[in-house]
Order: sequence, then structure tokens, then C-alpha cells
Amino acid sequence: MKMQAVVLWEPKRATLEYVERPDAAAGEMIVQVKAAGVCGTDLKIYDGDYLSPYPLTPGHELAGTVVSVGAEVSTDWVGRQVGVDPTLTCGVCGFCRSRQSNHCVNWGAIGDTVNGGFAEFVAVPAKNVHALPADMPAEVGALIEPLACAEWALERVPVRPGSEVLMFGMGPMGVILMRLLLRGGANAVTAVDTSSRRLEWAVQLGARQGVMADAAEPLAEAHPMGFDLVVDATGVAGVMPQAIRFVSPGGAYLLFGVAPRGAVAAIEPYWIYHREITIYSSMAINQSYARAVQIASSSNGVLEQRLVTHTFPLSAYANAIQAIREGEGLKIQLRPG
Ligand SMILES: [Zn+2]
Ligand SMILES: [Zn+2]
Repeated sequence: MKMQAVVLWEPKRATLEYVERPDAAAGEMIVQVKAAGVCGTDLKIYDGDYLSPYPLTPGHELAGTVVSVGAEVSTDWVGRQVGVDPTLTCGVCGFCRSRQSNHCVNWGAIGDTVNGGFAEFVAVPAKNVHALPADMPAEVGALIEPLACAEWALERVPVRPGSEVLMFGMGPMGVILMRLLLRGGANAVTAVDTSSRRLEWAVQLGARQGVMADAAEPLAEAHPMGFDLVVDATGVAGVMPQAIRFVSPGGAYLLFGVAPRGAVAAIEPYWIYHREITIYSSMAINQSYARAVQIASSSNGVLEQRLVTHTFPLSAYANAIQAIREGEGLKIQLRPG
């Protein structure tokens, strides 16, 4: 049987193809993809700036329905709505054995290093599959992967109840992290971005205040004690020298956005010393998907359908990539079928 799938033949050359529908090998399930998010990593894969092999069907943020299972997998899964943790790890290297599987020396990911969810169906290891409530919209299910990244970030950074937070970068990841921070006890989040539209969204979705990046300096006067936590969710290296100056004495800086490899920022070590600033970072998902499912399944309002502002059919994959490149909207997803 054939199915539609996006095939990225080489960087910047993608077509929609009819390809052979995958069969479930032992220990695998076939998921009919209902929604699959597109993000900055997909942009890197499209441009050839990632470790992906080509040809590849990308798509690592996916939710759908199990339609068949291979040997050694319970048939009870068939018909269930599921989300898929894309992380592929070896389970035996030193990092896997010390609960640092995001640093697995054999690390891979569905949609990044093997075929993923920009297709009608995808074969995935059963151990990567997580059951979702039947009434959860598939768009929300596909937001659990980015939520799992935010969840891991907040496992790294201790956030004291009542914390004042300043966030640079209110793209979809920034907004999801903001909502998780507010649920985790942060008192208020002040949002900074270069897009007034994104700031409007950030305020609608929970930020106390939205400030244009070129007008951020007066925040130092309004907050003479600084912020307990400053989050950089921009992926722009040049933001750090400015943003780190807003951290309060004894406070923390979280590097959450992914800056291009090789990009450098000049920061003042004295400032870090004198204010006793702790710098944290977090990379991808580290066994945090199951907790993200729990968060998404409760009625705490971290994830909502309105975080998804654009949906495209598979045939419009290139348009979705272009929309990401232009920073359009909040979350952009593909909807196969
Ligand atoms: Zn992603
Ligand atoms: Zn490993």
C-alpha cells in the first residue's frame, strides 16, 4: 500500500511523494499521523545544517492514532490516540546509563535521523509511544514534544515560588516555557521580543507585560533588583550580553534557544562574578516526555489549541518552512490526510 510523504531528497529540495507505507517490525507500531509540528530544527534540516541523512521524511513533533503493531507489541494499542517521543537512544552508553540520554553517544531522533511524521503513516518503536486521552485534540498532542523540551529545562533550573522572570524570545517554545514557568510558581513573566504581534500573543497567553527588544533597557530601572530568572529563548547569540545584565544578584540565566554553532557573544565575566549568576542550559528531551503528557493531560492550561496558529497540508511543507523562516505565527503544524 502507498501513502503520501514529504521527501527531502537533499537540502532545499523536497517533494510530496507516494511511497510504500511502512510495516511494523517487531517492537514497532504504525501511527497514522494526525498532526505534526514544524520548528526551527526542521528549518536546519531543510537547509542542510543538521546531522540528518538524505533523503529523509522529517517531522519529530507528532501525534496520531495507532493503526497496527508488530510482534511483541500488545494489540490493545490499536485505535489509541498517541504522542511519540522522537528520541532514539542506545540505552547502553555511559550517558544513557546515568540518566543523561539526551547526550547518548548514539543519539538519533525520529524525523531528524530516521523517517518521521510528515507522512500519512510512520513506523516508531513501541517504547517511544505514549497514550494520550482520546478527547485531546491532535494539535495539542503534537505540542507535547516541545513541552517535553521545556519540562526538561525546568528540571535543570530551580525556580523558586514567587520568582520574577524576564524572557527574551516569545516564539512557540518561549510561550510554552512561559506557561510552564507560571504553572511552576513563577510570580510573573515579562516578555521581550522583536515582534509586536508575538508580544500581543505572549500577553494574551499569560505574560504580565510585553516589551519590544529595542525598548528593553528601561526595565532595569523598573526592576532595580533585577529578575530572579532571565530566559533566553531567542537562539540569537547577540542577545546574551544584554539579557544577562537583568539577572538579579544570586539569580539564574537559562540559555534555552539554540544559537547557530560557531556564533559567539561577548559577555562581561565581572558581572557574572559580582552578581553570583548561575548559567543553565538545556538540550532537547531527557526522559521528560511522559511528564509532559501528564502536564498536557491535566486541565492546567499549559497547552491549548490556540498556540497553533497555522496548519498546512503535507503538500505545503515548503510553505510551512518559509513561514518558520519568516517567524510567522506561533506554532505551525502539518496535517496529513
Ligand atoms: Zn521541534
Ligand atoms: Zn546511549
